[in-house]
Amino acid sequence: MIKKDLIVLAVDDDLINLKLLKSMLMKSGHVKEVIEAKNGSDAIGELKKRDDIDLILLDIIMPIMGGIEMLKVVRADDNLRQLPIIVLTTDETKKSDALEFGANGFLMKPIRNDDLMKKIATVII
Ligand SMILES: [Mg+2]
Repeated sequence: MIKKDLIVLAVDDDLINLKLLKSMLMKSGHVKEVIEAKNGSDAIGELKKRDDIDLILLDIIMPIMGGIEMLKVVRADDNLRQLPIIVLTTDETKKSDALEFGANGFLMKPIRNDDLMKKIATVII
């Protein structure tokens, strides 16, 4: 079973997606905080600010810094390389890139609550 007090960093340039994701996560009973970031660069900034993030949910297509680029940065950083990352995207063709660059899981949008919680359970020990 997943622990009950996860801190999740949700990264998406679509603010409506971000709100939906946050509401889904908060209702799950496993998440105590959702930190929002609107692109990869924003998200890296959040990761530098705090060391208590348990999981990243990452969109791929974003301005400034997209998801694949962010994966490369995180996986090259000694302090961040172990962080579980699940990629959420509408573009299935990005799956092999996402996994190749270190994503732990991949889900197609639109995201269903059950699928998301199952996927989180597979990446959180
Ligand atoms: Mg996007």
